[in-house]
Amino acid sequence: MAAPRNQLEAVEAEGISGCLGGSGVEVVFPSYSAVPAPLCPHGPTLLFVKVNQGKEETRRFYACSACRDRKDCNFFQWEDEKVSGARLAAREAHNRRCQPPLSRKQCVERYLKFIELPLSQRKFCQRCQQLLLPDDWGKHREHQMMGDVSVNQLKRPSQLLYPLENKKTHAQYLFAERSCQFLVDLLSTLGFRRVLCVGTPRLHELIRLNASGDKKSNIKSLLLDIDFRYSQFYMEDSFCHYNMFNHHFFDGKAALDICRAFLREDKGEGAIMVTDPPFGGLVEPLAATFKKLIAMWKEGQSQDDSHKELPIFWIFPYFFESRICQFFPSFCMLDYQVDYDNHALYKHGKTGRKQSPVRIFTNITPNKIILPTEEGYRFCPLCQRYVSPQNQHCEHCNSCTSKDGRKWNHCFLCKKCVKPSWIHCSICNHCAVPDHSCKSPKNGCFICGELDHKRTTCPNISSSKSANKAVSKQKRRKNNKMKMETTKGASMNHISVTRQNKRRERAHQYLCS
Ligand code: SAH
Ligand code: ZN
Ligand code: ZN
Ligand code: ZN
Ligand code: ZN
Repeated sequence: MAAPRNQLEAVEAEGISGCLGGSGVEVVFPSYSAVPAPLCPHGPTLLFVKVNQGKEETRRFYACSACRDRKDCNFFQWEDEKVSGARLAAREAHNRRCQPPLSRKQCVERYLKFIELPLSQRKFCQRCQQLLLPDDWGKHREHQMMGDVSVNQLKRPSQLLYPLENKKTHAQYLFAERSCQFLVDLLSTLGFRRVLCVGTPRLHELIRLNASGDKKSNIKSLLLDIDFRYSQFYMEDSFCHYNMFNHHFFDGKAALDICRAFLREDKGEGAIMVTDPPFGGLVEPLAATFKKLIAMWKEGQSQDDSHKELPIFWIFPYFFESRICQFFPSFCMLDYQVDYDNHALYKHGKTGRKQSPVRIFTNITPNKIILPTEEGYRFCPLCQRYVSPQNQHCEHCNSCTSKDGRKWNHCFLCKKCVKPSWIHCSICNHCAVPDHSCKSPKNGCFICGELDHKRTTCPNISSSKSANKAVSKQKRRKNNKMKMETTKGASMNHISVTRQNKRRERAHQYLCS
């Protein structure tokens, strides 16, 4: 197979392979298991299914919802495994040990003490990523410390803390100033008064900065994030330690109540949720979580508002469009390209901007969302939305068809617009990259064997018996070369079980279909 042509396609390949279960592991969602899922330090685990080609069977197991790398959380349990009382006790002790050393309340108390200190005594330990009170100085004497932490610095924790870039857990990619300011201005133009920030610490802080400044905007923001370091900088009502893959509040009911009250204030009026999850994360558990947050908001509505939806911005790469729209049919994808500070591929280059694959998915009518004309975005009256500079309205498709920002071309044989680098292949009977391998096998659905969807969205998902049958069917169709790799027993890393090049190969083939 050919190497991806450009960086964008490489990102795309990576994104797709990391998330479509091409590795031989898929999340079983919603959980059909009658028993509650066992707990890891990150809350309830998720049920996964590993497709074991050798034995022609599927066996389900529980693993951490938040960490896609066993180095970060090594929880593993077969669904049918009997766990002894001793092991359960050890697990509980382990889960307790893994919780942050300070309670949410203690963090708030420390913060209040910290801001009372004179500037010269306000120190931040860079190694431990912690605000220090004078009593702590001794312990951190050998560490690199930063002094004179100003109020302005305290208001911008995303600049004080280093981003946790580990792709398989936090994948903390912070918005570039341009994108962050665009979002804040947009939220204010649209008239929102409360923003539930799910995994968007930088947006949260910019909203609060604007609100505390003399600007007219007075938007409130509540941050839900798994990065506990942020709890040092916010009071209980503006940060909750939260896992968005299982809707778990680490501080229990008190935190859940804060979130609920926030969503339901003014009968839900004026609230929006903005989320920017790790791209390697699975779409199903995220969708399930967002539906729970939507339900929480909905319960605060009066009866006559029952048709209303919680407005949402879900920031994610464009190649997830069909997955997201499966779960949220009312969502559409905007052309706006979201840029990041600490991501080599997604940020403005020195020599002009690189194309970012990250977009905003929303249930807000797109004609209400004005994209910056100074960046070249313009309004298409036919599509009733703002489109990127090179996105041209195709008269055959009757739509501005480009997804990646480049000009796409219409193929009359495929009856749709395709990427500029693709050509129509008469063997495959559809457009593809010029150097693809023709008629190559693809990863279809494990249940029915069809190629246009995955097991998780299969209409025949009901019984595991049919799943087994379909696995055999699919296997018959696959050639040996394409067989999925599995690693031995429980020591597997449950998402990236295959070598990088294999993943890319499958991703590439997926993209060419
Ligand atoms: N662009 C955003 C940051 C997005 S990076 C901004 O600038 O504000 C993804 C964010 O999601 C990080 O803050 C990370 O800590 C958080 N995150 C990662 N996994 C999470 C999980 N399981 N639950 C909740 N938040 C998570
Ligand atoms: Zn875990
Ligand atoms: Zn158009
Ligand atoms: Zn074609
Ligand atoms: Zn071909």
